Amino acid sequence: MRYSGFRVIKEALTGHKGWTPAWRNPEPQSAYDIVIIGGGGHGLATAYYLAKQFGEKKIAVLEKGWIGGGNVGRNTTIIRSNYLLDGNEPFYELSLKLWEGLEQDFNYNAMISQRGILNLIHNDAQRDAFTRRGNAMILNRADAVMLSTDQIKAEYPFLNVDDARFPIKGGLAQRRGGTVRHDAVAWGYARGADSRGVDIIQNCEVTGFWIEDGACLGVETSRGFIGAKKVGAAVAGSSGRLMAKAGMRLPIESHVLQAFVSEGLKPLLPGVITFGAGHFYCSQSDKGGLVFGGDIDGYNSYAQRGNLPVVEDVCEGGMAILPAIGRARLLRMWGGIMDMSMDGSPIIDKTHIDGLYFNGGWCYGGFKATPASGLCFAHLLATGAPHEVATAYRFDRFRRGNMIDEKGMGAQPNLH
Ligand SMILES: Cc1cc2nc3c(=O)[nH]c(=O)nc-3n(C[C@H](O)[C@H](O)[C@H](O)COP(=O)(O)OP(=O)(O)OC[C@H]3O[C@@H](n4cnc5c(N)ncnc54)[C@H](O)[C@@H]3O)c2cc1C
Repeated sequence: MRYSGFRVIKEALTGHKGWTPAWRNPEPQSAYDIVIIGGGGHGLATAYYLAKQFGEKKIAVLEKGWIGGGNVGRNTTIIRSNYLLDGNEPFYELSLKLWEGLEQDFNYNAMISQRGILNLIHNDAQRDAFTRRGNAMILNRADAVMLSTDQIKAEYPFLNVDDARFPIKGGLAQRRGGTVRHDAVAWGYARGADSRGVDIIQNCEVTGFWIEDGACLGVETSRGFIGAKKVGAAVAGSSGRLMAKAGMRLPIESHVLQAFVSEGLKPLLPGVITFGAGHFYCSQSDKGGLVFGGDIDGYNSYAQRGNLPVVEDVCEGGMAILPAIGRARLLRMWGGIMDMSMDGSPIIDKTHIDGLYFNGGWCYGGFKATPASGLCFAHLLATGAPHEVATAYRFDRFRRGNMIDEKGMGAQPNLH
């Protein structure tokens, strides 16, 4: 069924009896050409592009819980392509371009809203760094503009610009950045993949791999063995645990990241803002809640909830630039498990086991990467070669010393 304005009107006039489920609920088959493990944004996008772009046929996505229950439905919904390094910027710019046409492409309303993102600057060194970043973005055909303090005052009048511990000295804006309704991305890709014949199998946990003579021949699951010519793992925060079942130790640690939503307020924030003297980022949802977050909790964990010291730290960051936030009540908060890599950049690569492919290490920036990650992983699975914008995302960069260390923090996941 194709969704359209006409369809909405027709259903409204006929008692909404014509809507069909957005995706099927099939039983797993004994074997597939390609099995994707993980029904998050990246796994579903991979299956979608495999079917749509590469014409692959027998594909299954195996999800241990339900579609959208992982980080794809837990993040703070920010999309952007304001990266500095060559290994990253072309990839994230491709992703932003894919976001721009995504709703038409998969015929689903994901509430993509390019309301802009503003990185605040608080000192001269930061201005130099953001100017360099803005130039790198422009060289990669992304958009970037430096804003003066006066321009920021005009656009964001409620920010504490002068009378603050960290006065605001300017900002780097990307007007095409913004927000997307996160769980709708999972639903849209799921629906698009399902309509092209992909089996999306929920409540199906992968518990092991069948590996013979160095080749992966399928996966053991909570619903029995499923054979596969190729297996792609895209399980985000569970990457370490899953790949250990194939005997692999990854350059990835799992950490908790929390998100927060305030009570609904009248329109206040026109776009996304990030605080440059601490870690705080914030946007306002269409329902009016301020949606914000900050640092990871700083210890390894597989829990999907965090602790109070980070709540305090994030709220302090918010208060430093947006004192009005102190009057708002915190309505909801939750956590997600982040797959933090050792240089803060992702991995999309074959493993040393034939037929087993890996996608992960997205840290806490993987939501914006979803379309490009899906496309690049599908490209790798279908052709055996990396997509041109993902050539740097290989395992061996850690052995070769060619890290893509966007923040220059070294092998300290808690600092990326
Ligand atoms: C609080 C928070 C805020 C964030 N904010 C942003 C942001 O503003 N912008 C941004 O770009 N990124 C953000 N992120 C990061 C982003 O959400 C993740 O990097 C991205 O969603 C991870 O990819 P995914 O969608 O495929 O993961 P997930 O949705 O977690 O998908 C992985 C799936 O694999 C499944 N799985 C795990 N193990 C198995 C198994 N053995 N068998 C079968 N299935 C399995 C899980 O159940 C899960 O559904 C944030 C994350 C969090 C938690």
